[in-house]
Amino acid sequence: MKLVILDRDGVINYDSPAFVKSPDEWVALPGSLEAIARLSQAGWRVVLATNQSGLARGLFSIETLNAIHAKMRQELLPLGGHVDAIFLCPHGPDDGCDCRKPKPGMLHEIAYRFDVDLSQVPVVGDSLRDLEAAAAAGCQPWLVLTGNGQKTQQAHTLPPGTQVAATLADVVECWLGS
Ligand SMILES: [Mg+2]
Ligand SMILES: [Zn+2]
Repeated sequence: MKLVILDRDGVINYDSPAFVKSPDEWVALPGSLEAIARLSQAGWRVVLATNQSGLARGLFSIETLNAIHAKMRQELLPLGGHVDAIFLCPHGPDDGCDCRKPKPGMLHEIAYRFDVDLSQVPVVGDSLRDLEAAAAAGCQPWLVLTGNGQKTQQAHTLPPGTQVAATLADVVECWLGS
């Protein structure tokens, strides 16, 4: 099974330091939904792993988060794109959970649920914690330069083997070609 794990904010949609708190604030990055559709059409499973500490911070409810994801799925639909599952960490930085990236808990959960070998699974993110979670789980880390990506590339030593691409569309182009 071909499966990819994507971060959400800064990879699929514009990120915000003030958090994405409503469907209106969720705006897709150019080409990202088309890139997901290409993966879906090529038979890939597309799974999201996203830290959503806004839940713990009381900035939005799980109902609102579901509405945000419904908007994303609705916009993917006419493109032929499909998100197979969304794994999220609802905790805050000080909650000590195992799921908040850079911890690899969500990735292990995905491996268990989909019965995949994580060494064959790419993880695409824009922040160091995405890449660290990927490395800790034995996945292939991919950094995109959207969202926090440029800052991540400039300010940090990336985990060994990290691949870099400008956008999610460029990542997918690397995998599928034109
Ligand atoms: Mg992100
Ligand atoms: Zn968590």
